[in-house]
Amino acid sequence: MMINHPDFVQWMIEEADASRTKEEFRKLVGIFDRRPIEQECYSCDNTATRASMYQGADGLMFWCEGCNEYGSGANRGKLRIVTTYREVLHMIDAFAAGNKKFKFQTIRELARGKGLSKRITEANLTAFFAA
Ligand SMILES: [Zn+2]
Repeated sequence: MMINHPDFVQWMIEEADASRTKEEFRKLVGIFDRRPIEQECYSCDNTATRASMYQGADGLMFWCEGCNEYGSGANRGKLRIVTTYREVLHMIDAFAAGNKKFKFQTIRELARGKGLSKRITEANLTAFFAA
């Protein structure tokens, strides 16, 4: 659910009435957000600490502390830094009309950047979301 239906998770934590399910999703989003990025930087061999995404688009690029996301000629006004689950979703709400496919793809990409393996299995997900 966390990876395959981020639009539902967002509705659950932001709009649904208080419930144990809501609390459970909140907890999982917290775990997701606290996981460090493990992906290699886009422009060097260091480990990245943040990701950038363009307004109105899906897809992330990962960057370390030493590298500049604007170095490759990015348009300054259109790039945003994201490191958390809800930052990604809010970007897509604000600039891509809440596109569900973008949410799905970009959350998956951020999860992979945070160490979720390419082959998504029940066991991998359980390990990823273990507090
Ligand atoms: Zn770098």
